[in-house]
Amino acid sequence: MKLTYPVGSLVAALSLLTAPIVATGQTPLVDALKTLSDGERAYFQHVTTLSNPFFEGRAPGLRSNALAAEYVEFNFRSSGLTPAFPMVKTEGEGMETARTPFASFRQPFSTGRETVVKAQALTYTAAGTTVTLIPGTDFAIRGTSGTGTVTLPVVFVGYGINQAQDGYSSFDGMKEDEDLSGKAALLLRFEPLNEKGKSRWSETGDFTSKSTLAGKLRALVNRKAAAILLVSPPGVDDPRANTIEDTKSSTQGTSMSVPVINLHVDTAAKMVSAAGADLMALRKGADEKGGVTDIAGLTVAVDAAIAREPNSTDNVGGVLAGRGALKDEFIVVGAHYDHVGYGLFGSRTNSVGKLHPGADDNASGTAGLLVLAAQLADEYARLGPDASARSIMFVAFSGEEGGLIGSRHFVKNAPVEASRVYAMLNMDMIGRARQDAQGRPKCEVSGVGTAKGFEELLAPMFESSGVAVKTLPGGQGPSDHASFYRGNIPVLHFFTGLHDQYHAPADTYDRINVVGAARIYKLAGTVATALALRAEPLEFTTSKGPSIDMNEPTDDPRTAVNAKPAEEPVATRRARTPEAAPTPADPQPAPGGGGGRGGSRVRFGIQPGDYDGGTGIEVGDVFPNTSAADAGVKAGDIIVKWNDTPIANVQDWMPLLGRASPGEKVKLTVKRGSETLVLDCTLKAASN
Ligand SMILES: [Zn+2]
Repeated sequence: MKLTYPVGSLVAALSLLTAPIVATGQTPLVDALKTLSDGERAYFQHVTTLSNPFFEGRAPGLRSNALAAEYVEFNFRSSGLTPAFPMVKTEGEGMETARTPFASFRQPFSTGRETVVKAQALTYTAAGTTVTLIPGTDFAIRGTSGTGTVTLPVVFVGYGINQAQDGYSSFDGMKEDEDLSGKAALLLRFEPLNEKGKSRWSETGDFTSKSTLAGKLRALVNRKAAAILLVSPPGVDDPRANTIEDTKSSTQGTSMSVPVINLHVDTAAKMVSAAGADLMALRKGADEKGGVTDIAGLTVAVDAAIAREPNSTDNVGGVLAGRGALKDEFIVVGAHYDHVGYGLFGSRTNSVGKLHPGADDNASGTAGLLVLAAQLADEYARLGPDASARSIMFVAFSGEEGGLIGSRHFVKNAPVEASRVYAMLNMDMIGRARQDAQGRPKCEVSGVGTAKGFEELLAPMFESSGVAVKTLPGGQGPSDHASFYRGNIPVLHFFTGLHDQYHAPADTYDRINVVGAARIYKLAGTVATALALRAEPLEFTTSKGPSIDMNEPTDDPRTAVNAKPAEEPVATRRARTPEAAPTPADPQPAPGGGGGRGGSRVRFGIQPGDYDGGTGIEVGDVFPNTSAADAGVKAGDIIVKWNDTPIANVQDWMPLLGRASPGEKVKLTVKRGSETLVLDCTLKAASN
């Protein structure tokens, strides 16, 4: 994506923020804030709060996502909104026993499974002394670990490499009938190193395919190791030398049958030296030559348990009650509050593990939602006694970044029938408006072709808004409104465009065009009230036209990164870390919607749905003119097999897609309702 920064589009008032603070009296910041209206100031505060590192990028599964939901609910309540969702009582296996409508601000759902640590304890004993290690500092259970409670002697297995050049084998000297049963294998990451801490097997110093972690772990499990302690070799020249991966960042790869523990190198060195050995000396030995070494007198006690459990997150919704004859109809105004957290999926910049604050995406829309709720509540309070107005339902969606999961859940389990939803307005990324020649903030509004006469109805509002609106007809698109469009509801999406900080750690609050965003949410508010007061019905129409204009040839630029979490994230793209990949030559498959932008050679062309029964991939959406569309894959299908390989979930599918070549033919087995179909699919090349 070739986009320029919105240079000069930050309003003058806020550009003062970068001016030096004056020591006497008032700061330029105070002056700048004074130039803002109450609404703009509230907006700025919401954006700044929601994108504060405390909120950790608001990814479902993080505690901070739940805190963000509380923040939204608090503000909805403060504005006098009433609950949008039913309170549902369940018993036993989720059997619904009672339902009270409009009794909860929350609509819970799951975005998939998350790795949950059920037990993690590690001690070592040497020379009669037992040391208890600290989880998170000294060690962490690997996300692919097996479960077990064992006390074992420790054996050093070097780099755990079966066979490499010049006859190198870490298992040198082990006889045919020997194995590692009853032992904990202390395993070095990577591969034999030179004196600079770089690979001695490649000219560039980059690690070769022999360092692939999956292969090393497999080699140890095949030799019946009862537990594996994984440590970075001391002295390695690699960013991970002095860190330990935590449970959630080490979920990629096949689950192991035995406990696998990431051990900090300093901890490992202390542990080994307590038994009179030296980790650096062991490393140097393994650099030269393979072989297995008992560390006499050292035992470890491991208690490890990992579970994959459905995570839970909430849509948060509040109602501003309407009046008179129209009050049982609704305008939905929405914005997603979730973002990609630490970038374990959805990071565009390979910044796995770094906090993605998501100021524009989508603290900007959520803040607009919160301010609008307060402002429209005031407006409704001033409506005359004879007024007739639809109710407005404000919804902060979660699970958007995982593939519009929250909004699709909302539409499937709507608190009111679709026929009573007059229109849906979505604010996703409204914080980075550039300016036009007249100094007006520019905004795309898509969806004007989704209702009969919509464009004509809206035109005067756009013209008087002080916003340079570019309209687009389509109701499809990479954000929550698409879920409503698929439910035959007229939609509008307000959007100020992509930028270089999109889905990156640099999407921060200080880049937000506050005054521009305020005009845009005000425009959304004007449209919402005009629609709420309009007597005539609004007739839904499908629209073939584009929904987003980013000079991108296909679907939309956000799809690839908005797809379901891939458990093999960007690690495979870092040249230095081939060990994370099945083989380093493997391209990184683009998850799901897969524009191939992640480096996959083929493009399949679906967006995965929200089904996570663990027995296939639900197709949420099929993009036109793609391999999937040509093969006849349809939304709602569940893909269960790729040729002869069963696929339980997206993680299973990623490596298969990654290995595929353009032109290759695959047989897809899909479940469609009660039928099972086999579809012939010819894989098309990715467009990049
Ligand atoms: Zn996003």
